[in-house]
Amino acid sequence: MRLTRLFALTGAVLALLVCGMLGRLLWGEWEHYRAAGSGHHTLQLMQRAMIAAEKLSFERGPVNAVLGDHVPADPAYRARLLRARADTDQALAQLRRELAAAPVPAALAGALPLAPLGRLDQALAAARQTVDQLAALPPAQRTPERLSETVERMFRLVPLALDAVTGYTRASEQVYPRIGRILTKARLTVELREFAGRLGSALTVPLASAQPLTESDHERLQFLRGRIEQLRQLIKIPSGDIDTEPRVLAAVARMDQLYFATGQRLVTEVELASRAGRPYGMDTGQFAQRYVPCMSPILALRDVLLEEAQAQALRDFQDARHELMLALLVGAAILLALTLLLLILRRRVVVPLLRATRAVVRLGNGDFSLPPSGARRDDEIGDMLRALATLRANSMDRQRLEQERLHLIEELKVRADTDYLTGILNRRAFTAAGNLRLRGASERNETLAVILFDVDHFKSVNDSYGHDAGDQVLIRIADVVRDSLRDGEIVARYGGEEFVVMPACCGLEAAGALAERLREAIASEPLTLSDGHILRVTASFGVAVAHGPHAALDDLFHAADLALYRAKHNGRNRVESQV
Ligand code: GH3
Ligand code: MG
Ligand code: MG
Repeated sequence: MRLTRLFALTGAVLALLVCGMLGRLLWGEWEHYRAAGSGHHTLQLMQRAMIAAEKLSFERGPVNAVLGDHVPADPAYRARLLRARADTDQALAQLRRELAAAPVPAALAGALPLAPLGRLDQALAAARQTVDQLAALPPAQRTPERLSETVERMFRLVPLALDAVTGYTRASEQVYPRIGRILTKARLTVELREFAGRLGSALTVPLASAQPLTESDHERLQFLRGRIEQLRQLIKIPSGDIDTEPRVLAAVARMDQLYFATGQRLVTEVELASRAGRPYGMDTGQFAQRYVPCMSPILALRDVLLEEAQAQALRDFQDARHELMLALLVGAAILLALTLLLLILRRRVVVPLLRATRAVVRLGNGDFSLPPSGARRDDEIGDMLRALATLRANSMDRQRLEQERLHLIEELKVRADTDYLTGILNRRAFTAAGNLRLRGASERNETLAVILFDVDHFKSVNDSYGHDAGDQVLIRIADVVRDSLRDGEIVARYGGEEFVVMPACCGLEAAGALAERLREAIASEPLTLSDGHILRVTASFGVAVAHGPHAALDDLFHAADLALYRAKHNGRNRVESQV
């Protein structure tokens, strides 16, 4: 896999993993935040349900007063009953409004018992009807059985509201496990208020009928007192920070003092009067007027606990929001850091590495174009780029040296084949070329000619004008001959003042004609020496040809030499051909 692809793939996988992890983290925080928000709402519901339960309990007081009174009932009692009913209706309406205000989250919907509310409405309407019917009867017709049945009906309403309270408590606990114990205590105070109310209601019939308490009344009072004491102990069980809250401590102390001292003493007073056969000295209304205020500290404690729970819930909600913001910030920072890291890695490592790789490949292929920049970096990549630059410089030096070497070899080769004075081929090169030509001519069954010529009386040139002048003559003759030849015709210095010419391809006659032309060219070309003297030299020519598969270059030269000898012998400055 290419490095770029591998890097892109690694980056993508890393980004995916980090995004997945962050997404999961954020989703968890978001859920917590949302649940905290909706849990706040559930807590409100619980509070509304508790108030509704309290109002239902409270409504029993005025009911008892009205039922214990004559017909028509005292308008004050009647008015209190109507106010209590209106309070209950208002509390239930607020609970319903709270339910409708914000949809209950799906996760909590199952935990919320909505059905008891419907049943409560029906049961409340039926119970009130029964109360009104009984209150319309003369006191004599309000038998203890009917009174008990009516009171029982009122009693049965509260558990329906308490079911809702329990449901909302559980739902709130699900969202706020930390405030679970506070909520449980709050629910216990609601129950305590209910049982305290029942304790008072248990005296309704005896007080209304001015009859002593029956044994079953005593048993009922005992049971209720036991349950009330149990609830008091449960409320007082230490359950964390909440127990040390001064507001909570004060509310508990006030409840102990007002309800458990004053309120319970009132009940004991009625009991003692009953056992002693004394008149009670009060009817149900008067009893309620003294007893009901004693229960208010229980509700005050409930309210303090609920306020604490709400404060805690609000802190939870704010904490959740804070955590969510923090998670968002951390997530964004991680993503930013990852992106930056990948970009830096790409810019500082991958890209320079790729460029360096390409440069190395180019170097390997003999391309010395500029290496990647960045050799001033002081990291490992910089080291590599510097090494690359050195490698490039070394390679360029090596290449230059190699070129020089080749050039030298070429020059040496040329020098080895060239006559140092005249610049034309020397005898060695001419022999090699001649052998090649002879082989080619033999293969093609052609004739190969050779012209040998020697400068006449050259010694006297040297003697008369000096050796340098002799050299100039030789150079000049070589130039004249070279200029007279066509492509494919070669001339060489055979030795001393002797030259040899090989025509391109021709027979003896054509070679003789060429030799004649050359002779004329040399003879007619005057040579001006550096000292101003003008010289005319001539040369004698011998021409020979070779033909056939067994022809040898030495034989050919020998034949030409013989012809040249004859030309010298016959008077010089002439051409003689092989006979
Ligand atoms: P002939 O007409 O019979 O050829 O007479 P010649 O004087 O040319 O012949 P000879 O063989 O007696 O003399 C050749 C001379 O050429 C001898 C030698 O000093 C001279 N010579 C040979 N090579 C060179 C050279 O490179 N430069 C010069 N200046 N002279 C050379
Ligand atoms: Mg000679
Ligand atoms: Mg000569």
